[in-house]
Amino acid sequence: MIPDAERAAEFAEAGRKLFAGSCEFIWGAVDIDGLPPMGPPEIAFAGRSNVGKSSLVNALTGRAALARVSQTPGRTQQLNFFAAGGPPGAERLRLVDLPGYGYAAVGKQKSHDWGRLSQAYLAGRATLARVFVLVDGRHGLKDVDLATMKIFDGSAVSYQVVLTKFDEVKPALREERVSETLAALTKRPAAYPEVLWTSSRTGEGVPELRAAVMKLLAEKGA
Ligand code: GDP
Repeated sequence: MIPDAERAAEFAEAGRKLFAGSCEFIWGAVDIDGLPPMGPPEIAFAGRSNVGKSSLVNALTGRAALARVSQTPGRTQQLNFFAAGGPPGAERLRLVDLPGYGYAAVGKQKSHDWGRLSQAYLAGRATLARVFVLVDGRHGLKDVDLATMKIFDGSAVSYQVVLTKFDEVKPALREERVSETLAALTKRPAAYPEVLWTSSRTGEGVPELRAAVMKLLAEKGA
């Protein structure tokens, strides 16, 4: 049997390689009829507006401006698909950037639209391997995060929490933030029992996120 540490190193290296390759925007969907045909496994990114989702997608893929870093929270209301690990049409993996949720300025109607399109996508997508739910590491889980996770639990969509902006969390508090987050997830049926943390600013945690993606692909046999 291969020791865990060795496997972890293999996933980290495979992740580095995959994301060092091309990554391109392939599709934007504004309604459920506008989703791309299903293809390779998809990993989706969800989180409150301004959680640092665009920055993390950019850090993950090593692209400065793949996902737009917005100064205006809640503006992007579409599902954006990116092809990674091979050219579009022959990609190994797709990244799906879900609209940010829970920002009051978006207004009731648009929040509702987030729910409808995202929920329809989540519930009906056989190729969706996991949703990475980004949570602001400075604050931990908020009610709106828990409410969104309830939707994922209801659709039996596997999700994993990633704490963002950890450069702004004092090193002495980091372990506690991770363990309290993990503790809050234990009774959630579709939550992956491991919490990751990242900083797009320093790059910390990004190799671990890439490794988690590769482990997931390996589990899916993809
Ligand atoms: P999105 O709305 O979730 O896509 O968030 P953005 O990626 O646009 O980031 C929102 C704000 O948080 C921006 O001002 C970013 O510069 C900032 N930000 C994003 N990631 C980090 C991070 O890792 N550390 C710190 N300190 N700030 C970040």
